[in-house]
Amino acid sequence: MWKGFFRCLAQATLFPETCVACESWVVNRDFIPLCPACSQLVAPIRHPTCCVCGIPLPGNLSAPLAECRSCHSGTFSFHQARAFGPFEKTLAQIIRAYKFAGRKRLSIPLAGLLLRIFQEKPLENGIDWIIPVPSHIDRLQERGFDHVRLLAERFARSTGIPIFTSLKRHIATSPQVGLSMKERRRNLRGAFRLNDQSQLFKRRVILLDDVMTTGTTANEISRLLLRQGHVSFVGVLTVARACRRFT
Ligand SMILES: [Zn+2]
Ligand SMILES: [Zn+2]
Repeated sequence: MWKGFFRCLAQATLFPETCVACESWVVNRDFIPLCPACSQLVAPIRHPTCCVCGIPLPGNLSAPLAECRSCHSGTFSFHQARAFGPFEKTLAQIIRAYKFAGRKRLSIPLAGLLLRIFQEKPLENGIDWIIPVPSHIDRLQERGFDHVRLLAERFARSTGIPIFTSLKRHIATSPQVGLSMKERRRNLRGAFRLNDQSQLFKRRVILLDDVMTTGTTANEISRLLLRQGHVSFVGVLTVARACRRFT
């Protein structure tokens, strides 16, 4: 108890932190720059979701399981996708601070959200590999760390599922914001490369990322994993999902 107290005291004195959402001073034993009040504001998706891609659908939570229009027309090659919450408000602030401002300790609560959704809405049983969505070396140098890999490492520690590290991004694609679905697909074509694919043969994998926007990146990697890696199942797990509001 005293050890924890002195640790917090030392932190408050030597390394004062502010909450990335409300900017109040925070002290906690894990040096996480997020206050308890803002942690409580991080909300899960409160709508029924598409049983394939996980996008929120109109209606209330008691609505029967349904597929969205994209999944009904077979848009995605992955089998299932799950996200903890909508990419908005406090959750979006936390993810941006983590990704772009180098607040690495936020990986602790964000990996906790991944674990929560993984346990509450399970994907296929017996997952063999976690595959973090890779960033290009130029992006890694800009940010100074691999934000998805760090989340994957924490998630792997909690679940005991190993990380597959031989998926690489060898083309630095331009930002996808503002592009149509078709342009996004063209932009990503050939951007990823798979090595050691023998380790994936008939395996069940989870593709892990911070945010799913249109699903184009997950879809592109998933096609590669199915075609070259011959995996038997691809699930996608993200902290947040960019989606339109129904309320
Ligand atoms: Zn706060
Ligand atoms: Zn869907």
